Amino acid sequence: VEFVRFGLWDQAYDAAGDVKNDPAEADNFVGADTRNFYFRVRDDNAVGAGSITINWRTLLAGGGNDDAPASQQLTLGELNTAPGVFVSNGVMLVTDDTDNAFPTDSGLLDPAADLVAVGMPDHRTRRGRIDGSVRGEYTDGGGVLCSVQKPIFRRAPDERRRVAVRVVSYTSGAAGYANARAADIAAHFVNANRRWNAIGIQIDAGDTVERAIPAAALDAADQYPGGIDSAEEQAVLADLIPITPDNTVTVVMVTLGGGNNAYTTLNRRAAIPVAGGPALNLGDRFFVFVNTRLDLENYTVSHEMHHVLFNRGDEDVERQYISFNTNPPDGYGVALPDVRIYRRFQNQYGDPDNDPTNANVVNWARHARAARFPIAGALDPAADNTTGNILVTPY
Ligand SMILES: [Zn+2]
Repeated sequence: VEFVRFGLWDQAYDAAGDVKNDPAEADNFVGADTRNFYFRVRDDNAVGAGSITINWRTLLAGGGNDDAPASQQLTLGELNTAPGVFVSNGVMLVTDDTDNAFPTDSGLLDPAADLVAVGMPDHRTRRGRIDGSVRGEYTDGGGVLCSVQKPIFRRAPDERRRVAVRVVSYTSGAAGYANARAADIAAHFVNANRRWNAIGIQIDAGDTVERAIPAAALDAADQYPGGIDSAEEQAVLADLIPITPDNTVTVVMVTLGGGNNAYTTLNRRAAIPVAGGPALNLGDRFFVFVNTRLDLENYTVSHEMHHVLFNRGDEDVERQYISFNTNPPDGYGVALPDVRIYRRFQNQYGDPDNDPTNANVVNWARHARAARFPIAGALDPAADNTTGNILVTPY
């Protein structure tokens, strides 16, 4: 293989939404993942040894260590069918410390090993980066070091993509709501990249543009209430559209009322009348309105980006999914963050690793839509000419 990828956790959950973590590969979230991988060593001087160990870690783009835990050890078992050839159980890369901290069954069918904590021998995940690589090292009986190093994601051609996101932060009305803090805005995008990097998408936030919100965009509580084609939405879009190029996505931080955490201008909007001038049209602009005071663990920007990049709405899906999920993550009664809640992308319609038309949901972010409307049902129809976006660019 020329590259590895991040695990999808697409075989990870049982019917109750809990993680499958048993010794057999088929019953293990790492062992069965579509994007796991294996280490393999051939050592003719170790025939009959039964097993050997290697070390494995992830590297930064510049070559320095990234996730290099206290023990990097992994056991490779000798194949009965090929003496001197040793193969590991499946291992997997993840994008953040929450996923990485989840214990993994060693898969060695050794009851003493059972669940292995992060940092211990035979832990089967490492945290990596979209521009990083993974490295394995084996020292044979003669003290000779052999190594293998592969990039995370295919680089030739580069399968990774970028999305530039504009950022506007509004001050709000007579109540004097302040702009979102720069650190909070930055944290939203760190969270978003933890999720979207898993499928090869890098989200780049531009500099924050601070503006005073138009008075006509505020309700009686001095909050922006949202609402498709409401007078308040038309007032805020009339402020935003003239400063926003077509075919762009903008995250708008605002004190959002009306019980909204966030929403995206996904569906068709009426033309906005302008006194003494031509009407304004939304065109291919996406605005993602995000409440300034949100809890970051709700992964709001990450979720809203699926509306933008898939050009699709919400659906009632299993709790592990961040895309399409119509239920907020804090509604499941589980303390966040948790590997079972609001972190994965649906893998439907076949093999996402062999999908030249990007018809699989995992790949919808790189599917180039030919039209924006009408937007089909959320998840069930396969990709059509309105699926995806024309916002992603080469990495
Ligand atoms: Zn949604």
